[in-house]
Amino acid sequence: MLSMLTFTPASLLRPGAVFGLVLLAAGCATTPRPGAHVPRHGDEIVAAGHFFRTGTPVVLWMDPGGYDAYRVERRFAPLEKADWRTSQEEVRHLNTPNRYNIRRDGLTPEQLERVRGGGWDLPLLQEVVDQFVLHYDVAGTSRHCFDILHDRRGLSVHFLLDLDGTIYQTLDLKERAWHATTSNSRSVGIEIANMGAYGENERNPFDQWYARDETGQVRITIPERFGDGGIRTPGFVGRPARDEPVVGVVQGRELTQYDLTNEQYEALIRLTAALCEIFPKMTCDYPRDDEGNLITRKLPDERLREYGGLIGHYHIQTNKVDPGPAFDWDRVVDGARALKGTGQPLPEAASAETRARGPGRLHRR
Ligand SMILES: [Zn+2]
Repeated sequence: MLSMLTFTPASLLRPGAVFGLVLLAAGCATTPRPGAHVPRHGDEIVAAGHFFRTGTPVVLWMDPGGYDAYRVERRFAPLEKADWRTSQEEVRHLNTPNRYNIRRDGLTPEQLERVRGGGWDLPLLQEVVDQFVLHYDVAGTSRHCFDILHDRRGLSVHFLLDLDGTIYQTLDLKERAWHATTSNSRSVGIEIANMGAYGENERNPFDQWYARDETGQVRITIPERFGDGGIRTPGFVGRPARDEPVVGVVQGRELTQYDLTNEQYEALIRLTAALCEIFPKMTCDYPRDDEGNLITRKLPDERLREYGGLIGHYHIQTNKVDPGPAFDWDRVVDGARALKGTGQPLPEAASAETRARGPGRLHRR
């Protein structure tokens, strides 16, 4: 819309310009001025090169302050030691310069040949992606999480969700990120900044991260060794959505965990609504038993194979308990369903144009 408004009538009258005109639905004829800037809104996610709106702040891998999983060198190592050759020598888990690969399961040889150069189209990606895998990061902040995944473990995930609700996308959703073993080819993954869930006899890091402040409420304190934690919102004060640690059973074990922040839930609801809109095979729901209650164990293999929707890491692997007992599945799913396709009001930060649309609409370029 903006480019139409800034297009001056005089430029339309240039000789030859008329042959380049594209007739728009509004009945207004125009052709882009070379070098015209396409404005970003700051809430877009990227799938197969298409931009989709979410209505909540997203920092992409190519944005200032972003986390770029395409880069081969380490992000946080001293610059003179960050190159691949040195990284490979210094870090045991770094075996290949790429921390991701191609979603190839289920593709025909012809389709694989087509996409291996990067040429995914959206309809093919929509055929392949049907799960949204939720993790907590046990790193506490998204910056520390990316450090561990990228610099130390040789792993990847599409999204990081920081304490202040900022979403970081590190790779196009067309990539097969390495976060959930058997579900990597078919899933989108998110690592939520949270210190995790622990059994009674396990050592936990709660006293370093959670304390009651002068208001009497629990406040998240980032340990000094992480500096400011890289939190994007200046002066952000993070509090668990519920003021007490939450106790619950996952994989048959009783675990304790502090909840996510309200900012994280609000962002996750919008991202979930967008993903369920973009990927038709991803139902906006979580794994339920016959009574409709959340399943809190790994799904049987056959059930896992046929399941498309939101899913916990613990539904995929018996050795995992994330996103933990505190994770409020109903809040996320109910919130996303309420938003889906309704074009409900978006947060103040979103632009007027964002507010006019629902999450997940294709940003036509
Ligand atoms: Zn996990």
